Parts: sequence; C-alpha cells; structure tokens
Amino acid sequence: MRGQPDRPPISEASPDRLCAALDGQPTYRADQLRQALFRTSATGFDQMLTLPAETRAALDQQFRFESLRLLRAQRSTDGTRKALFHTWDGAAVETVRMPTERPGAATVCLSSQAGCGMGCTFCATGALGLTRNLTAAEILDQFLYVRRRASRPAAVDRAVFMGMGEPLANLPALETAAARLAGAAYVGLSARRVTVSTVGLPAGIDAMASWGLPLGLAVSLHAPDDGLRATLAPIARRFPLPALMEASRRYQQAVRRRVTYEYTMLAGVNDARAQAVDLARLLRGQRCHVNLIPFNTYPGAIFRASARPRIRAFRDELRQRGVPVTIRRTRGRDISGACGQLHAGMLAAGAGTRRSNGAAGGRAARPAAGARP
Ligand code: SAH
Ligand code: SF4
Repeated sequence: MRGQPDRPPISEASPDRLCAALDGQPTYRADQLRQALFRTSATGFDQMLTLPAETRAALDQQFRFESLRLLRAQRSTDGTRKALFHTWDGAAVETVRMPTERPGAATVCLSSQAGCGMGCTFCATGALGLTRNLTAAEILDQFLYVRRRASRPAAVDRAVFMGMGEPLANLPALETAAARLAGAAYVGLSARRVTVSTVGLPAGIDAMASWGLPLGLAVSLHAPDDGLRATLAPIARRFPLPALMEASRRYQQAVRRRVTYEYTMLAGVNDARAQAVDLARLLRGQRCHVNLIPFNTYPGAIFRASARPRIRAFRDELRQRGVPVTIRRTRGRDISGACGQLHAGMLAAGAGTRRSNGAAGGRAARPAAGARP
C-alpha cells in the first residue's frame, strides 16, 4: 500500500461528499450506503447488495473501502485477538479485540496514533516514540475491520481508546471517529460504550466535554503526587495534578458521568499503603472510579508488576476510604496484546526504528527498544 493512495477512504467521507458520490440517486440511497458501510458485514463495495451494481462500481472508483491492510493476526489462549495493520504509508498499528462477559460480545481496543510521543516510562508504545497521528478513517476502520468479521457483528459493541497513542493529542481525528462510532446514522454504539483513555491533557479533556457526546473518560493517573507522576508520565511536568483534577471535575459535571482513574501498579514504586491513602485524599468528593491495572511486562521494561496481595491491599485501602475501585482483568498477555504492550512499529520494522519523540523529555533512562531486562 506504499505510495500516495489515489482514492480517499470512505469511512471518514463527509455527508456532502457521499451525497455528491450518489449524485442523481434517490435520497434514501445515502442511508442505505451508511447502513451497508457501518452496520453490516460487507467487506467490499461489491458486497453492498442493497445498492445497485452501477452505484457500487462508481463508489469503488471514487473511494477506498478500507484504509488499513492486515499484516498479521494473533489469538490468545483467553480469546483475545490482536491485529497488526499497515497504513498506506507503512505505519504499523495494532488493534485488540477482547471478549467481554456476555457470550459473543467484544470490546475493541483502538489505537489513535502510530507509536506515541508521551514517553511514559512503563509503556512499550512510549518507547517507540511517535510515528504519526492516525486519520479518522484509520481509527474507524480498526473498529469496522473487527466488527465486519465477527460472527455476531452487533455484539461487538464497545470501543476503548486504550491501544497505541494518546487520543487527546489527535483531537480532530478523535472527534470525527468518536462521533461516527457513537452516531445513530453511523456505527451507532452508545456513547457510554466508547471510552477515551488519556495520559491527562486538560485542554483535550475540555475539548471532549464540548462535543456533546457522553463519552467515557479514563484518566491515567498512576501516582497521587506530581513528583512521582512525572517520573512515570513525563508530560505530567507540563500538566500538574491540580489542573488535571479541575479538568476532570469539569468533565464529570458537563457529561454527568463518573470518570475512571487508571493506576498501573508498579512494584515498590506506587503501590504502598500510604500512596493509596494519598490517592483517596486526592480523589475525595469526585464522581469517579479507580481501575488498578496490573503491570504488563514487555522486553526492555524497567519496572516490575506489583504482587497480587499488594494490589488487593491497595484496593482495600481505597475501598475503606469510600473510593469505588476494581482491579482490571488483564487480557491477551501471551500475544503482547494487553495494555501497554503494543509495540507494532518495533515488530513490523525491526528494533531501533524509534522515530521523532514529540514528548517533553524524561526518556534518557530508558533502555534501547527491544533490549532485555
Ligand atoms: N495514551 C493513553 C491511552 C493508551 S494507554 C493513556 O495513557 O491513557 C492505555 C492504558 O494502558 C493507560 O492507562 C496506560 O497507563 C496503561 N499502560 C501503559 N503501559 C502499561 C503496561 N506496561 N502495563 C499496564 N498498563 C499499561
Ligand atoms: Fe502514550 Fe499512553 Fe503509553 Fe503514555 S501510557 S506512552 S500516553 S500510550
């Protein structure tokens, strides 16, 4: 798929552009087209059988059906699946499909960027640096690719932006993709089933609040104080906790939803009882929920996972202080498909392909990508 593509991808085409493509056809054709694109298992224009053959051929001449090319698919023993895609210019993107409690149902974990420029010191994607933002089509097509190939497409009904990249560093594409995932005329998921996870960019959270969609918000916190937080997520130096907590509270009020705080449990770093006490104090009075994430290791990781009893003790400490809290069930570890294990660029292009890093510093101590601990 190298070389500038001749046709734009259809999943992000504007309503006007679609109408123009259907020029001269009855108005219900646009609805049929959107239905076929966003709600059915059709994997090519030729399979959109509600549309006349000439229309399908005309669409094929004007648009690309999918913006991603599958390079590799892997399946975990727990049913999690990971897909490695290439964009037209060879950027590598990973998408994870996770089964949920209901039979046949699944959540799709989406990437918003190829790589990530935020440089978190415990994250495999962070070690890659940023290759580039994904387009709205490249984000949407991850979801559509998975859903179109599911045995019960409608049961693939949740999307979480917890794959590669920082979604709030890619706001225009995120807004279009989220609006289409949650839009009744498009994919039609409930906005409540679309969750954006952020490293904690206050202006991005405010932008999300202005979209008028009650999207789920998950804020990656990892530490109850700025000093420790900055060693884990260097961007925290630019956006300290008071500003982040204010933006999060504004979101809770604007959207009338609880915010989730993610807290990756790192042995001897952020898992002490006293830190749970501080965390409860930080979150006092908020409509929130804490999700403790067991650390998922990867080649070159410089942290270790907290022991299970420590994670449970941390949870109990928060609970006693009235903070709703759960421990995340980790999925797909054996295929490096769990949170923070996505490192597509490294796998696809070989180690040492780190590109530009748009983050605020703090990466000097990191071992070379691909190095063993
Ligand atoms: N950039 C966004 C979303 C992608 S990361 C963010 O940082 O929130 C999704 C979640 O995985 C974040 O909460 C992140 O802190 C967590 N994570 C990253 N590396 C991890 C690892 N190695 N083990 C467990 N969780 C990790
Ligand atoms: Fe980027 Fe999120 Fe990984 Fe930090 S944790 S490097 S923000 S993907």
